[in-house]
Order: sequence, then C-alpha cells, then structure tokens
Amino acid sequence: MARIVQKYGGTSVADVERIRSIAARIKKSYDEKNDVVVVVSARSGVTNELIGKARFLNPSPNDREMDMLLAVGEQETIALTAMALHALGAPAVSRTGGQAGILTDPAHTRARIVSINAENIEAALKDRNIVIVAGFQGVNAEGQITTLGRGGSDLSAIAVASAVKADLCQIFTDVEGVYTADPRIVPDARKLVEISYDEMLELASMGSKVMQARAVEFAKKYRVVFEVRSSFNENPGTIVKEEVVSMEDVVVRGVAVDKSQVKVTVNNISDRPGTAARVFHTLADAEVVVDMIVQNVGRGGRANLTFTVPRDDADRAKKAVEVVLGEIGGGTVAVTNEVAKLSVVGVGMRTHSGVASTLFTALSENNVNIQLISTSEIKISVVIDLARADEAARAVHEAFGLAKEA
Ligand code: ASP
Ligand code: MG
Repeated sequence: MARIVQKYGGTSVADVERIRSIAARIKKSYDEKNDVVVVVSARSGVTNELIGKARFLNPSPNDREMDMLLAVGEQETIALTAMALHALGAPAVSRTGGQAGILTDPAHTRARIVSINAENIEAALKDRNIVIVAGFQGVNAEGQITTLGRGGSDLSAIAVASAVKADLCQIFTDVEGVYTADPRIVPDARKLVEISYDEMLELASMGSKVMQARAVEFAKKYRVVFEVRSSFNENPGTIVKEEVVSMEDVVVRGVAVDKSQVKVTVNNISDRPGTAARVFHTLADAEVVVDMIVQNVGRGGRANLTFTVPRDDADRAKKAVEVVLGEIGGGTVAVTNEVAKLSVVGVGMRTHSGVASTLFTALSENNVNIQLISTSEIKISVVIDLARADEAARAVHEAFGLAKEA
C-alpha cells in the first residue's frame, strides 16, 4: 500500500484505445490498495493543433484566451480517463488544475506554480477515489485559468506528488527510461536503473529529451522521487532520485550528443576589459541563449571568442554580434554549422580522476578532432565535427564500458 502519482503523456492518451489501456493500468495500481492520483496531458498533437487554430484567426492571440483554449486539451483527457475507469468499475473523479488546488502566478501561458492546496485531492482519496488531475494548467489568484508552458504536465505531476507526499511519481511516456546513450545512435546503450537529479538534468537537457527540465528541477528541490517508464509495456523504468554515495562508483553515467547547436567564432576582437560583456549583452538582448564559451589567450591586443548557440538562433546571433563589433574596435564573426556537442555525464566525476583523459583518448584513437572543450563538476563536453558525432558517441560509450551492467 503506497501513495502513487502516475503521469501519462500525450502519446499514452493519444486515442480512446490508449486511454482504455492506461485505465486498466491505473485500476491495477488502485486494486493493489494504493492511493492513486493520475495527471494527464492532452492527446498528442492537440495542443499544437489548438495553437494553430488560434494563430490562424489571430497572429498574436491574447494570452488569457490562449490559456482558456489550451486548457481544453487536458480537460478532454481527464474526463475520458475517468469514464474509462468507470467502465472498468473503478471509482474515479476528474479535476481541472484549479479544482485540484493548483494556484499559479498571473503569467498567462507561462505561469509558475505558487502553491498547491491538496485538500480536495486528499478528501477524494480518503473516499477511495482515483483522482484524475488535468496537467499543464492551474488557476491564478483571480480565478483565471493559466497554463504552465509547453511540456508543463510533467511539472504538474511532480508538484502534485510533492503536495500529496507521494511515495513515488511515475512518469509514463513512450520511452522506456533514461539510457546510457541514445539507442538509435548507440545500439548497445543500456537502460539505467537509477540516476541522480543532476545527471538526469544534464542528460535530458542534451538530447535525451525525456522530460521537461523544469519538472526535474522542481523534483530535485522538493526531493520527489520519480520513475520514467513506458506506458506501452510492463518493463520497469529508470528511478530518478537524490544522489547517494554508491552512485559515485559509476564514473560516467551516460553519453549525450546534441546536434541542435552551432559554433560561432568571433575573431580578432580587442583584448580589453568589457569586450566580452558587450558581445554577450548584445546576445542576451537578442534573446539568444549561449551555451559553451571559450576565449583564447590574447596576443598583440587581439583575441578570439568562440561560443555555441541554438541552430535556429545562429543568424540572429551573427547579426547581433556584427552590429556590436563596429562599436568595440572591429573583428569578424563566422558560424560553423557542421558541429555537434558530445558530453559525458556522471556524479562520480567529482571523486574520480582520468575521465578527461579517457574521453580524449577515445576521440583521438578514432581520429576525431576536438574543437572546443568545457567542463562542469559532473560533465565534460566537447564540440566535434557533426559528421563524426555518432561514431564518436559509440567509441566513447565503449571506452567508458557503459554497455556492460554497472
Ligand atoms: N499539452 C501540453 C503540451 O503539449 C502539456 C504537456 O503535454 O505536457 O505542451
Ligand atoms: Mg509532454
């Protein structure tokens, strides 16, 4: 007997057949005498479809009306899920975000959760109901419907799990868990049994886009243990929890490849205080998110600055930097499109040495040139040639022995 929050994403409630199948899974947990709270997304594609309709009628739709519209997607699935459970003879009640006590700030379409008053959910659980909560939505202090930003139902689930003090939050999705690498690139990648929040954040923000990063941050902050698993089979998934000492035995947990960024090089800029500040200020004003940053040692009063930005922002970044170069004593800017960022991640790096040397050796043995390097406490990233990225990922995965059971 435990208290479980189960979250089902868009592909898990994609049609009535899928809803019937997850209802059976929900009922099974309920029949095992668990308290069960379910958070659902809209059917996959529905939120995009609604946004499309809104934009067709009005290129810049009003934010309040947008939330009114988008909340519809999840409202459909809570009701259908409850009905499917009733058909199986299980007592279930649906709740909108507001009815579930999810209070947000006033920022329509990107609201933050302020608090959750779980009284209503608790009362329904006490009467042995399964409570079905609409993900992605809440209500602000004025009673207006708000939404939490794209992918927000992950956050709803984690926040509800925290509010009802769930023993476990299960995130049901269309992947089986978190892997040592993307199995489409590295065929012998292995599903991880458990990882820490920080590792999940590093792996998820870099391509293994399993879950909304904000939801993982929230889980870390409030220590919500969650499991990422598939709703398409019965296999156990990956448990994500607080770091424990034994996790450090594994030096590298996984290898991530990110092909979504490009490299921007600013050559021959003046090497004096304030130059970098001006360049990055301009990029911030242009709302370009910069990732890796490297500056070489200046020579003769000039220096080179290199950084990575999202592929879609490359033109905007280049134009913004060109404007500022004129004001700070010249220089040139070039974009290299054919790059990928490869990273190795693991909390064990904090206490083990030799990770960089193993990584660089694996790359050099495969004749892969390193263009940029950056490190953090639990991650080493390199920028390499895009054409060699998959091969490099396989070599690095092998070099760290990740295919074998840890
Ligand atoms: N339906 C919302 C979206 O597509 C929320 C979610 O699915 O997490 O972004
Ligand atoms: Mg989602």
